[in-house]
Amino acid sequence: MQLVNTKQMAGMREGSIALAQVLAAVLLLFAASQGAAQEQVSANASAADLDSFCDRLPRPAFAKLSKSQFSNDWFEVYEIEKGIWAIYEPFQWQEVISYLIVGDNMALLFDTGNGIGNIKAVIKKITAMPVIVINSHSHFDHIGGNYQFDNIASIATPFTIKNAKGSISARVKREVSAAALCRPLPEGITRDNHHIRPFHISRIISEGDIFDLGGRKLELLRTPGHTEDSVALLDRDAGFLWSGDSFYEGPVWLFFPETDLYAYRQSMARLARLAPRLKAVFPAHNTPRADPALLIQASKNLELVLAGKVAGVGVMDGNVEFRFDRYSFLMRKDYHRLPPP
Ligand SMILES: [Zn+2]
Repeated sequence: MQLVNTKQMAGMREGSIALAQVLAAVLLLFAASQGAAQEQVSANASAADLDSFCDRLPRPAFAKLSKSQFSNDWFEVYEIEKGIWAIYEPFQWQEVISYLIVGDNMALLFDTGNGIGNIKAVIKKITAMPVIVINSHSHFDHIGGNYQFDNIASIATPFTIKNAKGSISARVKREVSAAALCRPLPEGITRDNHHIRPFHISRIISEGDIFDLGGRKLELLRTPGHTEDSVALLDRDAGFLWSGDSFYEGPVWLFFPETDLYAYRQSMARLARLAPRLKAVFPAHNTPRADPALLIQASKNLELVLAGKVAGVGVMDGNVEFRFDRYSFLMRKDYHRLPPP
């Protein structure tokens, strides 16, 4: 979801990653290939200044994961925990990650990606169980494959209802432009025909609803802010949180007209309170696992930003980026200060 060119885009997705981390990451890759486990800092700094996100692939976090046989030319699939599958679209600049969570009786698909690759075909290979779809929110990079599924459970804000009608906008077209891609589009998808197809919400859900998949229960948390319909999923027993776009490692986009910083601050504070009981956070972009401690830090840093205590960097028309080690907040120049809570 952006209106910028490739270079800006690459800066936005990567701008917050400190040089030291890039260096450490480069070395980790090297160390992994050498069978060494030690983390050190390499002298290779050039990766920080590349123009295209393509040149940064694969992200170092994936070096530790083994790619599943269910991967194809568009999706990379990783079983990040038993029965939890990250379905990643690395060759499109959103680097969106959908998750299939497979229980003993049914499976839950949290987001359906860009709608460029055939996500249902991937899901069918992983499980024959019935699948319920829930979206982290209704931005188009998370609902693109919804049309392929019958069982879609969703909260139903006005924003959701509007987005469920689909979109054929220039913004959606830009998602399949040359600048947005590192690979040819899957067969049959073109810039002319790509759009977000409408979908039907088959069941309206709300805060606190529990989805019992058999052997794994997931609880729906409303986390408005990024959008009014943002939600997270919580597995209290295992200590896993699916954070959607409320938090991921990279620039968190908070510059949309539909973003509400008052709500976002409360949602981040709520996630931060959960963090001590969490083992892992599974975000919707870039990398499939984040340290829960980052939620606490991000919530604190967000308050500093909103209080005007952090210097931002102007990154594109009207936006300013507040950078921290593994993430940043990307906000409008005229909307990043709030009175204290
Ligand atoms: Zn989003």
